[in-house]
Amino acid sequence: MNRPLCLLALGLLGVIGAAPAHAQTTALIGATVIDGTGATTPRGVVLVEGDRLTCVGTADECHVPSGANEIDLTGRFITPGLVDAHVHFSQTGWVDGRPDGLLAPEIYPYIETSEYNRDHPERWHQSYLCSGITAVFDVGGHPWTTGLSSSSEDDANAAHVRAAGPLITHATRTALMANEDLYTFLPMDTRAEVSESVRQLAAMGSGAVKVWYLRPPADRREELDARLMQVGEEARSAGLDLIVHATSLREAKMALRAGAKLLVHSVEDQPVDGEFLELLQRNDAVYAPTLVVGGFWTRARGSIAINQPPEIDDPNGCVDPGTRAKLRQTAELQALVPEAGRSPERFYAGLERVGRARSVMADNIRRVHEAGVTIATATDAGNPLTLHGPSIYTEMEAMQAAGLEASDIVIMSTRNGAIAMNRLDDFGTLEAGKLADLIVLAENPNDDVRAFRSLTHVMRAGLLREQKELAFRQ
Ligand SMILES: [Zn+2]
Repeated sequence: MNRPLCLLALGLLGVIGAAPAHAQTTALIGATVIDGTGATTPRGVVLVEGDRLTCVGTADECHVPSGANEIDLTGRFITPGLVDAHVHFSQTGWVDGRPDGLLAPEIYPYIETSEYNRDHPERWHQSYLCSGITAVFDVGGHPWTTGLSSSSEDDANAAHVRAAGPLITHATRTALMANEDLYTFLPMDTRAEVSESVRQLAAMGSGAVKVWYLRPPADRREELDARLMQVGEEARSAGLDLIVHATSLREAKMALRAGAKLLVHSVEDQPVDGEFLELLQRNDAVYAPTLVVGGFWTRARGSIAINQPPEIDDPNGCVDPGTRAKLRQTAELQALVPEAGRSPERFYAGLERVGRARSVMADNIRRVHEAGVTIATATDAGNPLTLHGPSIYTEMEAMQAAGLEASDIVIMSTRNGAIAMNRLDDFGTLEAGKLADLIVLAENPNDDVRAFRSLTHVMRAGLLREQKELAFRQ
């Protein structure tokens, strides 16, 4: 389905006639263009004017105006910029951002960590662009994250952001409530609390209403299911999409019955069934599995337990020096882990749990894909060792290992991410009129998604940069 449109050529030939060359046009010539719709154009041409694509197609379809800035990318591959449909700007990629997992107030005072995150979102933006990610969905964080959407939209140094803000939940994690401005949760225990929580999210400009629906205790199921349904109704009235964290099949179905448009994790407790697939289809919902975050958490805990700083997978130098320094602080942290938590038995049990969940998640992603449901690539970046930026490579490779075709994963990591963000009209595929957010690779991602590691250039809002210009280390 190749639908090239050459607005520029139509304009020049149809209206202006022999107009003078358009100095601002950038022409990317000769690459194989994988446009995110499923179409591939060998020796393609991509024309860019300002921050927009003006033509994507063959050399016949896209006439390069004389005077254009021509960039020869013969032998390379162009895809839309990657979209990570699950990140957290309020989390750091290490345990300092998750004091509910390991409380270390002497080493990492949570208020200071949270303030630093608020004051320095540019670190994660650079990590994203450096890794080829030009848009992210922040599916839960401190109130300030809701402002990222407008502040990053037209910034060539930032990824597009849709941000949900604080999570509505029945669970209590007081460690994640830094103060009255830097908090992670809003309550849902009563009807009045649900109304007030949704009202607050709407008032702070949230891009969606996210519910953190951990498995409720058996004696509270009915009551909390009713509250979840109410969140769905009130979100709809407020004009906001409901998105839900629910990793167990029963809760994931409840989320869909409540109207969820996005499930931000995999179902990992058991195989999904026909009813679940029908509910996904009925809602036209997006399924965003997160295959690697659990293993990264276990590795982070293990590296602290044995005081062995973790090795990180950062092929393009996209992890900032501050984060790298923190990842080496395992000695100070080890002393905080109780003896029982340092036992090899505990560590192996964790690995086994992760392995079991991974195999269920792998089966489920295939079932959901075979049912024709929209799947979006999602990392949960910000959790310990799920590093902003390069963790997307690990996630895509896990999807491939689960049995999905590389060419389908390319679509899930571009177009479908834009669908999850409600932004397909603006980006996610390479089509005339859309934003010029794209990446250039040395290898073919339709053969093997490991090719995304071979990133050579990133274009955001029409600004083309070599990958190494975006790296923290060269
Ligand atoms: Zn998350």
